[in-house]
Amino acid sequence: MEKIDLKALTPDELSALIASVGEAPFRAKQIFKWIYRGVSSFDEMTDLSKTLREKLAEKCTIGNLIIEKKQVSKIDGTIKYLFRLSDGNLIESVLMSYKHGNTICVSSQVGCRMGCRFCASTIGGLVRNLTASEIIDQIMKAEADSGKKISNIVMMGIGEPLDNYENVIKFLKIVNHPDGLGIGYRHISLSTCGIVDRIYDLAKENLPITLSISLHNPFREERKKIMPVDAIYPLPKLMEALRAYLAVTGRRISVEYAMIRGENDTDECAKELAKLFRGMLVHINLIPINNVRERDFVKSDTKQIKRFMEQLEKLGLSVTVRRELGSDISAACGQLRKSVIEEQKQEVIKA
Ligand code: SAH
Repeated sequence: MEKIDLKALTPDELSALIASVGEAPFRAKQIFKWIYRGVSSFDEMTDLSKTLREKLAEKCTIGNLIIEKKQVSKIDGTIKYLFRLSDGNLIESVLMSYKHGNTICVSSQVGCRMGCRFCASTIGGLVRNLTASEIIDQIMKAEADSGKKISNIVMMGIGEPLDNYENVIKFLKIVNHPDGLGIGYRHISLSTCGIVDRIYDLAKENLPITLSISLHNPFREERKKIMPVDAIYPLPKLMEALRAYLAVTGRRISVEYAMIRGENDTDECAKELAKLFRGMLVHINLIPINNVRERDFVKSDTKQIKRFMEQLEKLGLSVTVRRELGSDISAACGQLRKSVIEEQKQEVIKA
């Protein structure tokens, strides 16, 4: 029988499990605290009886990611981790240091099935969802390895978080819990390519996180060409969902816009983008696109990005250009994982 990973359980689920083996409810709280203090074995839970520790070890485990590879940027100290999961799959996380604190970008799936044309993470398709444990352990291992306290989380690594909805919600509840990692919802951003149904669900969860929407083109037909998700959840439906989300949560939405030369950086696009979001509580984040070897998209000129930004500002939108961090360490999403998988394939072929 497969063991239960306790790091994947919310406090309520852990309480139910502890009650089901006939233990007192306060034991669940003790165990929960130990897990997020970073213990890797039940023997370290010194305030539990030996019998209970043995009982736990027999039925349960504590998820543990292994650092397979680590790259540190010489330019800005950004750290990219490649983690190995218990089944051998690989995922990435990136730790960035800003004046206001340390931010980690975590993965939510092994691969992705959304098919965005400019993204390296989706090239091999979706392998599987990450468990809540595998999402949270990216943060715990990065903190332990770097010695840096992480204050902010962005769900912008490999995968589409709203395509792994249940585990992502569990992860959010655990990471926010005072006995978990105690990171405030206001310090967490979740980025989606626009899974409309789940945006309505997320609004109902009432978690004051920041929702980020990957828009990348304000014209539906053009957007559909680079983001296949638009065929299922068309831009007008996405806009309806965003208005509903704003009405329910009152929380400003962040709009991600990767600047691709000659594709979406024209004056026409700026005007259309402004028209789309005028009067809505949003902030536009312009991202100079990362070049991906397999993709032929090229970053917009710095001058053009500035012009685009100024036009949006003139049209009344709040805009920033994202700083490019870790440009010397295969920075684009999914690139490190992809290059290591390719190396491993080469080795298998040679052997
Ligand atoms: N699936 C989610 C989160 C992961 S991607 C989403 O789509 O939002 C995180 C952000 O990086 C998204 O805005 C995505 O569109 C963007 N992105 C992907 N590939 C990129 C690239 N090559 N350059 C710049 N941004 C990229």
